Amino acid sequence: MNHVIAGVQLPNGTRTDLYVHDGVLADEAPPGAERIDAEGLIALPGLVDPHTHLREPGREDAETVESGAAAAAQGGFTAVCAMANTQPVTDTAEKAEHILDLGVTAGLTQVVPIGAITQNLEGKALAELGLMNRSRAKVTMFSDDGVCLMDAQLMRRALEWVKPFGGVIAQHAQDSNLAGPGACCHESEIAGRLGLGPWPPVAESAIIARDVQLAEATGSRVHVCHISTAEGVEVVRWAKARGIDVTAEVTPHHLLLGTELVEGYDTVYKVNPPLRTSEHIEAVREALADGTIDVVGTDHAPHAPQDKDHAFADARPGMLGLEQALAVVMETSLERLGWEGVADRMSHAPAKLASLTAQQGRPLTVGEPANLVLVDPTARATVNRTDSSSLSRNNPYHGIDLPDPVRLTMWRGKVTYAKD
Ligand SMILES: [Zn+2]
Repeated sequence: MNHVIAGVQLPNGTRTDLYVHDGVLADEAPPGAERIDAEGLIALPGLVDPHTHLREPGREDAETVESGAAAAAQGGFTAVCAMANTQPVTDTAEKAEHILDLGVTAGLTQVVPIGAITQNLEGKALAELGLMNRSRAKVTMFSDDGVCLMDAQLMRRALEWVKPFGGVIAQHAQDSNLAGPGACCHESEIAGRLGLGPWPPVAESAIIARDVQLAEATGSRVHVCHISTAEGVEVVRWAKARGIDVTAEVTPHHLLLGTELVEGYDTVYKVNPPLRTSEHIEAVREALADGTIDVVGTDHAPHAPQDKDHAFADARPGMLGLEQALAVVMETSLERLGWEGVADRMSHAPAKLASLTAQQGRPLTVGEPANLVLVDPTARATVNRTDSSSLSRNNPYHGIDLPDPVRLTMWRGKVTYAKD
């Protein structure tokens, strides 16, 4: 497992050789090292996804921890945070430890369990936040993602609970009265014409406004999952200017794909929050560039065909994201972010969000863990949904010409993915 990565370029533009010795970056070539020719490639710190749905336990036909971890490695990730909305829900210390152990067994990427905020995601009573944090899984991020925690008093209590151990509450911001169960299309002329339930931007921004004020009132930390609207971005900008401890996330699909894609009723484009219009897409791109949005989170949401092959209104929302995340960020944001910005939004900042900074999101310097991805900055390819480690095929980028950057992923010195 010793390597010399020869002639690679770092995010800051420096050209160097990297030496990997027993999983750590070393200052000289280790004995018996295998040489990796990285001429023309860029090394980024291993990517960290703060928002992944792995579907195990409960829906192993759509994804397992192992298949999701393989998809993560194929996408350049060395850590993924596994959302709690499995069956059963990750709402106890034992269940969080189970996810952790499945990740260790898979051995392809660090799998970090996210705990539910409320028992069974019902929004009625808090889950075992403290016990999950004190467990072997050391849970620090909590989310009911999939549903919004509507009860403001419970949200306040959750923020108070996690504050002593530096935890964070990650909210799926969707006011369920403004955007109810039938809401599945950006509120617009298109939704009206197609007869799809409208999902207005204010359903997102109103919850964000409430939650940042609760974060301020409690002095605790809140994270906004998959922000999708210009209005939501404005609220986060206001909150940050006030010094409120808030972070925000954007998905690859909200950076690239527009609401007009739903015109054909193809359920691969059904996602929650929905695809938006070009003004919103430009707003989230600009916010990612200026730091109002801190991190990219994939919201990788594998679904089996029997959950997608329905009328648009009845299909499950969600799309794959791990394998094309870096490609989409390059396509939409590399010009504004530069490689150091990409490394920040996809590695350093999400590692900090998930309290992983001891192992993940580290600079590629001597003594640091060898978590990295080798990137070809010029290769492009037409995405083919069958070229995937995921068990699901609901890939919204199928048939689109995109960068094809990931050449090799290394986690703790082990090659977890290599493009042949
Ligand atoms: Zn969500």
